[in-house]
Amino acid sequence: STNKRAYNFNAGPSALPLEVLERAQKELVNYNGTGMSIMEMSHRSKEYDEVHNNAINRLKKILSVPDNYDVLFLQGGASLQFTMVPMNFLTKDQTASYVLTGSWSEKAYKEAKLFGNAVVAASTKENGYRNIPKLDEIQFNENDAYVHITSNNTIYGTQWKQFPNTGNVPLVADMSSDIMSRPFDVSQFGIIYAGAQKNLGPSGVTIVIIRKDLIEKANTELPTMLKYKTHADKNSLYNTPPTFGIYMLGEVLRWVEEQGGLEAIQKRNEEKAKYIYDVIDESNGFYRGHAEPGSRSLMNITFRLADEELEKQFLAEAKAAGFVGLNGHRSVGGCRASTYNAVPVEACIALRDFMYEFQKKHQ
Ligand code: PLP
Repeated sequence: STNKRAYNFNAGPSALPLEVLERAQKELVNYNGTGMSIMEMSHRSKEYDEVHNNAINRLKKILSVPDNYDVLFLQGGASLQFTMVPMNFLTKDQTASYVLTGSWSEKAYKEAKLFGNAVVAASTKENGYRNIPKLDEIQFNENDAYVHITSNNTIYGTQWKQFPNTGNVPLVADMSSDIMSRPFDVSQFGIIYAGAQKNLGPSGVTIVIIRKDLIEKANTELPTMLKYKTHADKNSLYNTPPTFGIYMLGEVLRWVEEQGGLEAIQKRNEEKAKYIYDVIDESNGFYRGHAEPGSRSLMNITFRLADEELEKQFLAEAKAAGFVGLNGHRSVGGCRASTYNAVPVEACIALRDFMYEFQKKHQ
């Protein structure tokens, strides 16, 4: 393509595959000969129905979602799931255990406390959220409503490599920033949720993968829109879904298949992240990685330079060189390169080269 694309390392919303954007552009004003854009069509039309079900089926196929799970497309972002999970599942004679590994898990925990007895299963806050706790450090009760984790910590740049086995207690995971980046076993989880805007598509759609027996057990005394059952019973068509976002999600999933599926995607993500972690590790402390090596994220690479002045200069020179989104989250500062699925290998090589040159010039 002749489209000039930025080196986009945004944390979210983030880069989408160029092929997907170009396909969507081709179909934008006339979808499949209908004379309409997909976003102008009834969500009850045959054409939209196909888009909707194809997206659900692609997601099920790529993640090997077992038959006893439903895939839902909701709105309100991952942030509304912080609320819906405890509303639906935290009963008054149970606790819910939260593993705190960063700001997003803290937010999820805070919401749960508004509804019931949420407790901390483990926390790595004292260590500046540089690591994921060891599996045997996680404390929960056999009677817990659920155990909640954040599979990838977007702000601190850490990622779970293995998930805890919680036995009969459902494991709930916020996978907003690493779903679709690597294979994993859905059957280890009771509920998985993710905002779409990193690896899955544009913002506006939230994916929920939920075990059917949990839906049946959920609190029934809730507003209609806040019950999982409402959406599960109607195949996520209870009300008007974010149709264009779901169309884009389906196209991103088609792209994932074309890339060779999750094994191939993971391999590429490992290669991409390695370029950047290698510059950090070989910089003799010029770049300082935030995450402990064993907990490093393949999606969000967080690092600091000697002082804020030098960081400012790094970000300014990077911007001038065409790199976008390298500033750390406003709550922690520093630098962060988000290398989600759609970030091309070339962009990571270009960043590696830039970082190397910047060090040579400034050390
Ligand atoms: N959870 C994680 C891990 C995130 O990275 C984010 C956003 O960056 C959120 C939750 C919040 O998602 P949303 O903006 O979809 O509510």
